Amino acid sequence: SAPDGATLRRWEAGFGARNYAPLPVVLQEGRGCWLTDVYGRRYLDMMSAYSATSFGHAHPRLLAALTRQASRLAVTSRAYSNDRLPLLLRRLALLTGYDRVLPANTGLEAVETALKAVRKWAYRIKGVPADQAEIIACEGNFHGRSIAIVGLSSEAQYRDGFGPFPAGLKRVPYGDPAALAAAITPNTAAFLVEAIQGEGGIIVPPSGYLAACWAICKRQNVLLIVDEIQTGLGRTGKLLACQHEAVRPDGVILGKALGGGLLPVSAFLADENVMQVFTPGDHGSTFGGNPLASSVALAALDVLEEEGLIENSARLGELLLAQLHQLAERSPIIRAVRGRGLFAGIELDPQHADAHELAVALLEHGVLSKDTHSTVLRLAPPLVISEEELLWGMTRIDEVLNNF
Ligand code: PLP
Repeated sequence: SAPDGATLRRWEAGFGARNYAPLPVVLQEGRGCWLTDVYGRRYLDMMSAYSATSFGHAHPRLLAALTRQASRLAVTSRAYSNDRLPLLLRRLALLTGYDRVLPANTGLEAVETALKAVRKWAYRIKGVPADQAEIIACEGNFHGRSIAIVGLSSEAQYRDGFGPFPAGLKRVPYGDPAALAAAITPNTAAFLVEAIQGEGGIIVPPSGYLAACWAICKRQNVLLIVDEIQTGLGRTGKLLACQHEAVRPDGVILGKALGGGLLPVSAFLADENVMQVFTPGDHGSTFGGNPLASSVALAALDVLEEEGLIENSARLGELLLAQLHQLAERSPIIRAVRGRGLFAGIELDPQHADAHELAVALLEHGVLSKDTHSTVLRLAPPLVISEEELLWGMTRIDEVLNNF
């Protein structure tokens, strides 16, 4: 007979490396916004695997694309062309308005790709002396877990024990354009920034921040690279979160939702002036741009547009934030509520509540959420959520907060 939930948890903890401490639930099935655990209990997904399942679970069109393509052709490597990748490249370029697309798999790979692109751009185009290029990121950022990327992190735990890190990495406070301007030197290649800091606690920067950074970067001949891995593809109520301020970065990084919640698919998008630095053999990945991933990503972009999910995110996001603000007025343990679209965070008063304990209590009441940095509870339901489902979730959150 199949091992029960407790056994599975024991095996995960006993045989797995200890780099995760999952919430106490063992999920088995997903349909739309709902997940079922091994005991048949149902949960509303208000986390969406950090935006990877923006289209919900088992979306019929995405499943159809996956199974159809899996039985035709899945992986070729890029030693050859395949008949799916060109469709995705063209689609992404036309959708976002960038000249070129470099496909990868996970988020961190696309971020690494961007870091390589901006360094080479600095040497070949800007004229920075060899090995002197600098990249500026923000305090509180999260761009992934590779050595170069944790080298950019300000989070002690993400860095501790993993040094030495590459040279030429700097940080400035998030939300402060003057600090960026002051940190730029003639050797600065790029400023890498999240439109809203996700992992950092759903930190929405002051209005006008990205636009101001864009102006500074343009003036100083520094590339603005926006990491939209979590905020992109409708999460905040626009295709890209930087479009709220009509900012057009020099490069954009997509991931998570691009894989339709079925596969890891990411991409670095930029114009020819940047992307020209890559020539055959400079960079690549065995799985990047494979026909299976390309098919699913294409279908995901179809679903995003044809099902009006960006609009749904904008409309229900307003409802979500309005409801959270109401909760905050009534609840002494909420310190602040932040967000945009279906991307929200509840900051708790650390003296009275712990976000991890709140996530556990919500789980017991049928809502999946996730704490970040012990004081913030993250809510990011699939963009396919209905108003009724969202209100069901908000009622559970209300109940739990009242008894917390
Ligand atoms: N960038 C941002 C903004 C993210 O939120 C994440 C993941 O949470 C990443 C990059 C890294 O993506 P991955 O975990 O797929 O490497």
